[in-house]
Amino acid sequence: MRIAVLGGDGFCGWPTSLHLSNLGHDVHIVDNLSRRWIDTELGVQSLTPMDSIQERCRIWKQVSGNEIHFHLLDLAKEYQRLRLWLEEYRPDAIIHFAEQRAAPYSMKSDRHKVYTVDNNVSATHNLLTALVETEIDAHLVHLGTMGVYGYSSVGAAIPEGYLDVEIENLEGEKKGLEILYPTRPGSVYHMTKSLDQILFQFYAQNDGLRITDLHQGIVWGTNTDQTSRHEQLINRFDYDGDYGTVLNRFLIQAAIKYPLTVHGTGGQTRAFIHIQDTVRCVELALSDAPERGDRVKIFNQMTETHRVRDLAEMVAKLTGSEIAFLPNPRKEAAENDLIVKNDSFLALGLDPIRLESGLLDEIVHIAEKYAHRIDRKHVPAVSAWTKDIARRVVHDP
Ligand code: NAD
Repeated sequence: MRIAVLGGDGFCGWPTSLHLSNLGHDVHIVDNLSRRWIDTELGVQSLTPMDSIQERCRIWKQVSGNEIHFHLLDLAKEYQRLRLWLEEYRPDAIIHFAEQRAAPYSMKSDRHKVYTVDNNVSATHNLLTALVETEIDAHLVHLGTMGVYGYSSVGAAIPEGYLDVEIENLEGEKKGLEILYPTRPGSVYHMTKSLDQILFQFYAQNDGLRITDLHQGIVWGTNTDQTSRHEQLINRFDYDGDYGTVLNRFLIQAAIKYPLTVHGTGGQTRAFIHIQDTVRCVELALSDAPERGDRVKIFNQMTETHRVRDLAEMVAKLTGSEIAFLPNPRKEAAENDLIVKNDSFLALGLDPIRLESGLLDEIVHIAEKYAHRIDRKHVPAVSAWTKDIARRVVHDP
Protein backbone atom coordinates (compact mmCIF):
# COMPACT_ATOMS: atom_id res chain seq x y z
CA MET A 1 0.00 0.00 0.00
CA ARG A 2 1.01 3.61 -0.37
CA ILE A 3 0.76 4.95 3.17
CA ALA A 4 0.95 8.59 4.30
CA VAL A 5 2.24 8.93 7.85
CA LEU A 6 1.22 12.39 9.03
CA GLY A 7 3.48 13.43 11.92
CA GLY A 8 5.97 10.75 10.89
CA ASP A 9 8.93 12.60 12.41
CA GLY A 10 7.49 12.26 15.93
CA PHE A 11 7.91 9.76 18.74
CA CYS A 12 5.18 7.36 17.55
CA GLY A 13 5.29 8.35 13.86
CA TRP A 14 8.94 7.58 13.17
CA PRO A 15 8.97 3.95 14.42
CA THR A 16 5.59 3.40 12.74
CA SER A 17 7.01 4.65 9.43
CA LEU A 18 9.95 2.26 9.75
CA HIS A 19 7.70 -0.65 10.71
CA LEU A 20 5.40 -0.10 7.73
CA SER A 21 8.32 0.44 5.35
CA ASN A 22 9.87 -2.78 6.65
CA LEU A 23 6.63 -4.61 5.79
CA GLY A 24 7.09 -3.42 2.19
CA HIS A 25 4.69 -0.48 2.10
CA ASP A 26 5.51 2.71 0.17
CA VAL A 27 5.75 5.18 3.08
CA HIS A 28 5.45 8.96 2.77
CA ILE A 29 6.06 11.04 5.88
CA VAL A 30 4.27 14.39 6.03
CA ASP A 31 5.38 16.64 8.89
CA ASN A 32 5.87 20.36 9.53
CA LEU A 33 8.63 19.63 12.09
CA SER A 34 6.74 21.72 14.67
CA ARG A 35 7.78 19.30 17.40
CA ARG A 36 11.44 20.17 16.77
CA TRP A 37 10.54 23.88 16.90
CA ILE A 38 8.78 23.35 20.23
CA ASP A 39 12.00 21.83 21.61
CA THR A 40 13.73 25.05 20.60
CA GLU A 41 10.99 27.16 22.18
CA LEU A 42 11.30 25.23 25.47
CA GLY A 43 15.10 25.08 25.35
CA VAL A 44 15.08 21.28 25.58
CA GLN A 45 16.06 18.36 23.38
CA SER A 46 15.37 14.67 23.08
CA LEU A 47 17.45 12.65 25.53
CA THR A 48 18.47 10.45 22.64
CA PRO A 49 20.47 12.22 19.91
CA MET A 50 18.15 12.64 16.93
CA ASP A 51 19.27 13.27 13.38
CA SER A 52 17.32 15.37 10.87
CA ILE A 53 14.42 13.57 9.24
CA GLN A 54 16.21 13.59 5.89
CA GLU A 55 19.27 11.96 7.44
CA ARG A 56 17.11 9.37 9.22
CA CYS A 57 15.48 8.46 5.89
CA ARG A 58 18.91 8.22 4.24
CA ILE A 59 20.16 5.80 6.91
CA TRP A 60 16.98 3.73 6.66
CA LYS A 61 17.54 3.37 2.89
CA GLN A 62 21.12 2.28 3.64
CA VAL A 63 20.17 -0.41 6.17
CA SER A 64 16.95 -1.68 4.60
CA GLY A 65 17.12 -0.78 0.92
CA ASN A 66 13.65 0.79 1.32
CA GLU A 67 12.91 4.41 0.57
CA ILE A 68 10.84 6.59 2.92
CA HIS A 69 9.86 9.94 1.39
CA PHE A 70 9.60 13.11 3.45
CA HIS A 71 7.27 16.03 2.65
CA LEU A 72 7.42 19.26 4.65
CA LEU A 73 3.83 20.42 5.02
CA ASP A 74 1.69 22.02 7.73
CA LEU A 75 -1.69 20.27 7.82
CA ALA A 76 -3.29 23.01 9.88
CA LYS A 77 -2.05 26.04 7.96
CA GLU A 78 -1.59 24.85 4.37
CA TYR A 79 -4.94 23.48 3.29
CA GLN A 80 -4.43 24.01 -0.45
CA ARG A 81 -1.03 22.33 -0.43
CA LEU A 82 -2.47 19.42 1.55
CA ARG A 83 -5.24 18.93 -1.01
CA LEU A 84 -2.79 19.11 -3.93
CA TRP A 85 -0.49 16.69 -2.12
CA LEU A 86 -3.32 14.18 -1.67
CA GLU A 87 -4.35 14.56 -5.32
CA GLU A 88 -0.79 13.88 -6.44
CA TYR A 89 0.09 10.97 -4.11
CA ARG A 90 -3.33 9.37 -3.62
CA PRO A 91 -2.50 7.23 -0.55
CA ASP A 92 -4.36 3.97 0.15
CA ALA A 93 -4.10 4.59 3.88
CA ILE A 94 -3.30 7.56 6.09
CA ILE A 95 -2.01 7.38 9.65
CA HIS A 96 -2.67 10.68 11.43
CA PHE A 97 -0.26 11.43 14.29
CA ALA A 98 0.15 15.13 13.42
CA GLU A 99 -1.09 16.99 16.49
CA GLN A 100 0.34 18.84 19.48
CA ARG A 101 0.25 16.01 21.98
CA ALA A 102 1.38 17.25 25.41
CA ALA A 103 -1.30 18.06 27.98
CA PRO A 104 1.05 20.25 30.12
CA TYR A 105 2.18 22.21 27.03
CA SER A 106 -1.47 22.79 26.10
CA MET A 107 -2.08 24.28 29.59
CA LYS A 108 1.06 26.44 29.82
CA SER A 109 -0.56 29.76 28.87
CA ASP A 110 -3.42 31.19 26.84
CA ARG A 111 -1.13 31.22 23.78
CA HIS A 112 -0.43 27.51 24.14
CA LYS A 113 -4.13 26.74 24.51
CA VAL A 114 -4.93 28.70 21.35
CA TYR A 115 -2.09 27.06 19.44
CA THR A 116 -3.12 23.54 20.48
CA VAL A 117 -6.76 24.03 19.50
CA ASP A 118 -5.91 25.76 16.20
CA ASN A 119 -3.30 23.22 15.26
CA ASN A 120 -5.07 20.01 16.25
CA VAL A 121 -8.62 20.78 15.22
CA SER A 122 -7.59 22.43 11.92
CA ALA A 123 -5.15 19.64 11.04
CA THR A 124 -7.85 16.99 11.51
CA HIS A 125 -10.61 18.95 9.82
CA ASN A 126 -8.43 20.01 6.88
CA LEU A 127 -7.52 16.40 6.30
CA LEU A 128 -11.13 15.20 6.42
CA THR A 129 -12.47 17.84 4.09
CA ALA A 130 -9.57 17.36 1.65
CA LEU A 131 -10.33 13.63 1.52
CA VAL A 132 -13.95 14.38 0.65
CA GLU A 133 -12.96 16.97 -1.96
CA THR A 134 -10.38 14.75 -3.68
CA GLU A 135 -12.66 11.67 -3.43
CA ILE A 136 -9.77 9.62 -2.09
CA ASP A 137 -11.11 6.49 -0.41
CA ALA A 138 -8.12 6.02 1.91
CA HIS A 139 -8.52 4.29 5.27
CA LEU A 140 -7.76 6.97 7.86
CA VAL A 141 -6.23 5.72 11.12
CA HIS A 142 -6.06 8.42 13.78
CA LEU A 143 -4.16 8.34 17.05
CA GLY A 144 -6.53 9.46 19.75
CA THR A 145 -6.10 9.09 23.48
CA MET A 146 -7.54 7.19 26.43
CA GLY A 147 -7.75 10.64 28.03
CA VAL A 148 -10.97 11.45 26.14
CA TYR A 149 -12.85 9.11 28.48
CA GLY A 150 -11.77 11.00 31.58
CA TYR A 151 -10.67 9.26 34.74
CA SER A 152 -13.65 9.39 37.05
CA SER A 153 -14.35 5.80 37.93
CA VAL A 154 -17.75 4.20 38.24
CA GLY A 155 -16.31 0.74 38.76
CA ALA A 156 -17.19 -0.34 35.21
CA ALA A 157 -14.85 -1.17 32.34
CA ILE A 158 -14.45 1.54 29.70
CA PRO A 159 -15.78 0.12 26.43
CA GLU A 160 -14.14 0.64 23.04
CA GLY A 161 -15.56 4.03 22.10
CA TYR A 162 -19.30 3.39 22.28
CA LEU A 163 -21.79 3.00 25.06
CA ASP A 164 -25.18 1.28 24.92
CA VAL A 165 -27.73 3.34 26.79
CA GLU A 166 -31.45 3.12 27.33
CA ILE A 167 -33.76 6.11 27.16
CA GLU A 168 -37.47 6.39 27.69
CA ASN A 169 -39.53 7.73 24.76
CA LEU A 170 -42.66 9.87 25.08
CA GLU A 171 -44.82 6.73 25.35
CA GLY A 172 -42.79 5.59 28.35
CA GLU A 173 -41.11 2.77 26.39
CA LYS A 174 -37.43 1.99 26.94
CA LYS A 175 -35.39 2.39 23.74
CA GLY A 176 -31.80 1.29 23.19
CA LEU A 177 -29.28 3.75 21.78
CA GLU A 178 -25.59 3.51 20.97
CA ILE A 179 -23.69 6.72 21.66
CA LEU A 180 -20.06 7.81 21.67
CA TYR A 181 -18.78 7.26 25.22
CA PRO A 182 -19.26 10.67 26.88
CA THR A 183 -16.00 12.57 26.83
CA ARG A 184 -14.52 14.19 29.91
CA PRO A 185 -11.23 15.70 28.79
CA GLY A 186 -8.81 16.75 31.51
CA SER A 187 -6.77 19.29 29.51
CA VAL A 188 -7.02 21.46 26.42
CA TYR A 189 -5.01 18.84 24.53
CA HIS A 190 -7.48 16.11 25.52
CA MET A 191 -10.32 18.44 24.62
CA THR A 192 -9.01 18.67 21.03
CA LYS A 193 -9.01 14.86 20.85
CA SER A 194 -12.61 14.86 22.02
CA LEU A 195 -13.46 17.35 19.28
CA ASP A 196 -11.67 15.11 16.75
CA GLN A 197 -14.12 12.33 17.65
CA ILE A 198 -17.10 14.47 16.61
CA LEU A 199 -15.38 15.45 13.35
CA PHE A 200 -14.81 11.78 12.57
CA GLN A 201 -18.36 10.81 13.42
CA PHE A 202 -19.71 13.52 11.12
CA TYR A 203 -17.51 12.73 8.10
CA ALA A 204 -18.04 8.96 8.39
CA GLN A 205 -21.79 9.45 8.50
CA ASN A 206 -22.05 12.29 5.96
CA ASP A 207 -19.42 11.30 3.38
CA GLY A 208 -18.74 7.64 4.06
CA LEU A 209 -15.12 8.22 5.05
CA ARG A 210 -13.50 5.07 6.41
CA ILE A 211 -12.02 5.94 9.79
CA THR A 212 -10.40 4.09 12.69
CA ASP A 213 -9.71 6.03 15.89
CA LEU A 214 -7.17 4.47 18.24
CA HIS A 215 -7.64 5.57 21.83
CA GLN A 216 -4.09 5.14 22.94
CA GLY A 217 -2.65 4.95 26.45
CA ILE A 218 0.66 6.54 27.51
CA VAL A 219 3.38 5.16 25.28
CA TRP A 220 6.56 4.04 27.00
CA GLY A 221 9.81 2.57 25.69
CA THR A 222 12.11 4.06 23.11
CA ASN A 223 13.23 1.59 20.51
CA THR A 224 11.53 -0.89 18.23
CA ASP A 225 13.01 -3.68 16.13
CA GLN A 226 13.66 -1.20 13.32
CA THR A 227 14.94 1.83 15.26
CA SER A 228 17.47 -0.54 16.88
CA ARG A 229 19.00 -1.39 13.52
CA HIS A 230 21.28 1.69 13.46
CA GLU A 231 22.18 4.24 16.12
CA GLN A 232 21.06 7.06 13.78
CA LEU A 233 17.58 5.53 13.56
CA ILE A 234 17.07 5.91 17.32
CA ASN A 235 13.67 7.17 18.43
CA ARG A 236 13.19 10.41 20.35
CA PHE A 237 12.84 10.32 24.15
CA ASP A 238 11.17 13.31 25.78
CA TYR A 239 12.03 13.89 29.42
CA ASP A 240 11.21 17.57 30.03
CA GLY A 241 8.37 18.62 32.33
CA ASP A 242 5.98 19.30 29.46
CA TYR A 243 6.55 16.45 26.99
CA GLY A 244 8.10 13.80 29.24
CA THR A 245 5.43 11.38 30.43
CA VAL A 246 5.34 10.37 34.09
CA LEU A 247 7.31 7.18 33.51
CA ASN A 248 10.02 8.96 31.50
CA ARG A 249 10.32 11.49 34.31
CA PHE A 250 10.89 8.71 36.86
CA LEU A 251 13.49 7.01 34.64
CA ILE A 252 15.43 10.24 34.18
CA GLN A 253 15.22 11.19 37.83
CA ALA A 254 16.57 7.77 38.75
CA ALA A 255 19.44 8.16 36.26
CA ILE A 256 20.55 11.49 37.78
CA LYS A 257 19.97 10.38 41.40
CA TYR A 258 17.11 12.82 41.91
CA PRO A 259 14.05 11.79 43.96
CA LEU A 260 11.16 10.43 41.89
CA THR A 261 8.56 13.20 42.03
CA VAL A 262 5.04 11.90 42.55
CA HIS A 263 2.26 14.49 42.26
CA GLY A 264 -0.39 14.45 44.98
CA THR A 265 -0.90 10.99 46.45
CA GLY A 266 0.17 9.29 43.22
CA GLY A 267 -3.22 7.58 43.22
CA GLN A 268 -3.88 8.47 39.58
CA THR A 269 -4.26 5.32 37.48
CA ARG A 270 -3.26 5.50 33.83
CA ALA A 271 -3.15 3.16 30.82
CA PHE A 272 0.15 2.24 29.16
CA ILE A 273 1.47 0.61 26.00
CA HIS A 274 5.00 -0.08 24.73
CA ILE A 275 6.10 1.68 21.51
CA GLN A 276 6.72 -1.71 19.86
CA ASP A 277 3.07 -2.58 20.52
CA THR A 278 1.96 0.83 19.20
CA VAL A 279 3.50 0.15 15.79
CA ARG A 280 2.06 -3.38 15.76
CA CYS A 281 -1.40 -2.05 16.65
CA VAL A 282 -1.28 0.40 13.74
CA GLU A 283 -0.42 -2.51 11.45
CA LEU A 284 -3.33 -4.54 12.89
CA ALA A 285 -5.73 -1.62 12.53
CA LEU A 286 -4.73 -1.23 8.87
CA SER A 287 -5.56 -4.88 8.26
CA ASP A 288 -9.03 -4.47 9.71
CA ALA A 289 -10.37 -1.42 7.83
CA PRO A 290 -14.02 -0.39 8.07
CA GLU A 291 -16.23 -0.36 4.95
CA ARG A 292 -17.73 2.81 3.48
CA GLY A 293 -20.81 3.72 5.48
CA ASP A 294 -19.59 1.98 8.65
CA ARG A 295 -19.48 3.91 11.91
CA VAL A 296 -16.02 5.04 13.07
CA LYS A 297 -14.15 2.01 14.38
CA ILE A 298 -12.71 2.71 17.83
CA PHE A 299 -10.05 0.56 19.51
CA ASN A 300 -8.60 1.05 22.96
CA GLN A 301 -4.88 0.88 22.27
CA MET A 302 -3.44 0.09 25.69
CA THR A 303 -2.14 -3.05 27.31
CA GLU A 304 -1.93 -2.42 31.07
CA THR A 305 -2.88 0.08 33.77
CA HIS A 306 -0.80 1.30 36.70
CA ARG A 307 -1.15 3.69 39.59
CA VAL A 308 1.48 6.47 39.49
CA ARG A 309 2.82 5.67 42.98
CA ASP A 310 3.14 1.97 42.04
CA LEU A 311 5.16 2.99 38.98
CA ALA A 312 7.42 5.10 41.18
CA GLU A 313 7.88 2.14 43.51
CA MET A 314 8.69 -0.13 40.57
CA VAL A 315 11.42 2.27 39.36
CA ALA A 316 12.65 2.87 42.92
CA LYS A 317 13.02 -0.88 43.48
CA LEU A 318 15.11 -1.26 40.33
CA THR A 319 17.31 1.79 40.94
CA GLY A 320 17.37 2.43 44.70
CA SER A 321 15.86 5.92 44.21
CA GLU A 322 13.87 7.81 46.81
CA ILE A 323 10.32 8.98 46.20
CA ALA A 324 9.18 12.55 46.93
CA PHE A 325 5.53 13.61 47.04
CA LEU A 326 4.81 17.11 45.60
CA PRO A 327 1.66 19.19 45.11
CA ASN A 328 -0.06 18.31 41.83
CA PRO A 329 0.14 20.98 39.08
CA ARG A 330 -2.84 19.32 37.35
CA LYS A 331 -6.51 19.57 38.19
CA GLU A 332 -7.52 15.92 38.36
CA ALA A 333 -8.97 13.31 40.68
CA ALA A 334 -6.45 12.48 43.41
CA GLU A 335 -7.22 8.78 43.13
CA ASN A 336 -9.00 6.84 40.40
CA ASP A 337 -9.46 3.27 39.25
CA LEU A 338 -9.22 2.44 35.58
CA ILE A 339 -10.56 -0.70 33.98
CA VAL A 340 -10.35 -0.73 30.20
CA LYS A 341 -11.60 -3.11 27.54
CA ASN A 342 -8.97 -3.82 24.88
CA ASP A 343 -10.47 -6.96 23.38
CA SER A 344 -10.23 -5.82 19.75
CA PHE A 345 -6.44 -5.78 19.50
CA LEU A 346 -6.07 -8.95 21.57
CA ALA A 347 -8.51 -10.66 19.20
CA LEU A 348 -6.41 -9.48 16.24
CA GLY A 349 -3.36 -11.16 17.77
CA LEU A 350 -1.56 -8.51 19.84
CA ASP A 351 0.86 -10.09 22.35
CA PRO A 352 1.77 -7.19 24.67
CA ILE A 353 5.17 -6.30 26.08
CA ARG A 354 4.89 -5.84 29.85
CA LEU A 355 6.30 -2.89 31.76
CA GLU A 356 7.70 -5.18 34.39
CA SER A 357 9.86 -6.97 31.81
CA GLY A 358 10.96 -3.97 29.71
CA LEU A 359 11.66 -1.34 32.33
CA LEU A 360 15.17 -2.36 33.27
CA ASP A 361 16.22 -2.24 29.63
CA GLU A 362 14.99 1.37 29.39
CA ILE A 363 16.91 2.31 32.53
CA VAL A 364 20.20 0.81 31.39
CA HIS A 365 20.11 1.35 27.64
CA ILE A 366 18.44 4.74 27.48
CA ALA A 367 18.24 6.70 30.75
CA GLU A 368 21.66 5.78 32.14
CA LYS A 369 23.40 5.64 28.75
CA TYR A 370 22.37 9.19 27.83
CA ALA A 371 22.32 10.65 31.38
CA HIS A 372 25.07 13.11 30.38
CA ARG A 373 22.55 14.82 28.04
CA ILE A 374 20.02 15.52 30.82
CA ASP A 375 19.51 19.14 31.80
CA ARG A 376 18.11 18.67 35.31
CA LYS A 377 16.41 22.06 35.42
CA HIS A 378 13.97 20.90 32.73
CA VAL A 379 12.89 17.70 34.51
CA PRO A 380 10.23 19.02 36.96
CA ALA A 381 6.68 19.20 35.60
CA VAL A 382 5.48 22.68 36.54
CA SER A 383 2.89 23.77 33.92
CA ALA A 384 -0.17 24.40 36.08
CA TRP A 385 -3.77 23.70 35.09
CA THR A 386 -5.21 26.84 36.71
CA LYS A 387 -3.87 30.18 37.90
CA ASP A 388 -4.71 29.17 41.47
CA ILE A 389 -2.69 25.98 41.22
CA ALA A 390 0.21 27.93 39.63
CA ARG A 391 0.56 29.92 42.85
CA ARG A 392 0.98 26.70 44.83
CA VAL A 393 3.24 24.61 42.55
CA VAL A 394 6.54 23.58 44.08
CA HIS A 395 9.43 23.19 41.64
CA ASP A 396 11.82 21.05 43.66
CA PRO A 397 11.37 18.25 46.18
P1 NAD B 1 5.05 13.91 18.70
O1 NAD B 1 4.85 15.32 19.11
O2 NAD B 1 6.36 13.26 18.98
O3 NAD B 1 4.78 13.77 17.13
C1 NAD B 1 3.79 14.51 16.45
C2 NAD B 1 4.36 14.89 15.10
O4 NAD B 1 3.37 15.63 14.38
C3 NAD B 1 5.60 15.81 15.23
O5 NAD B 1 6.65 15.32 14.44
C4 NAD B 1 5.09 17.17 14.75
O6 NAD B 1 6.10 17.93 14.12
C5 NAD B 1 3.96 16.77 13.79
N1 NAD B 1 2.91 17.80 13.65
C6 NAD B 1 2.22 18.42 14.64
N2 NAD B 1 1.36 19.32 14.11
C7 NAD B 1 1.50 19.23 12.76
C8 NAD B 1 0.89 19.91 11.67
N3 NAD B 1 -0.01 20.88 11.84
N4 NAD B 1 1.28 19.58 10.40
C9 NAD B 1 2.21 18.62 10.18
N5 NAD B 1 2.83 17.96 11.18
C10 NAD B 1 2.48 18.26 12.47
O7 NAD B 1 3.85 13.07 19.33
P2 NAD B 1 3.73 11.48 19.52
O8 NAD B 1 4.06 11.16 20.91
O9 NAD B 1 4.39 10.79 18.41
O10 NAD B 1 2.16 11.32 19.36
C11 NAD B 1 1.58 11.07 18.09
C12 NAD B 1 0.08 11.00 18.22
O11 NAD B 1 -0.28 9.96 19.12
C13 NAD B 1 -0.51 12.31 18.77
O12 NAD B 1 -1.65 12.67 18.05
C14 NAD B 1 -0.85 11.96 20.19
O13 NAD B 1 -1.96 12.67 20.62
C15 NAD B 1 -1.11 10.47 20.13
N6 NAD B 1 -0.81 9.85 21.42
C16 NAD B 1 0.47 9.83 21.91
C17 NAD B 1 0.74 9.25 23.15
C18 NAD B 1 2.12 9.20 23.73
O14 NAD B 1 2.28 8.70 24.86
N7 NAD B 1 3.13 9.67 23.05
C19 NAD B 1 -0.32 8.71 23.90
C20 NAD B 1 -1.61 8.76 23.39
C21 NAD B 1 -1.84 9.33 22.15
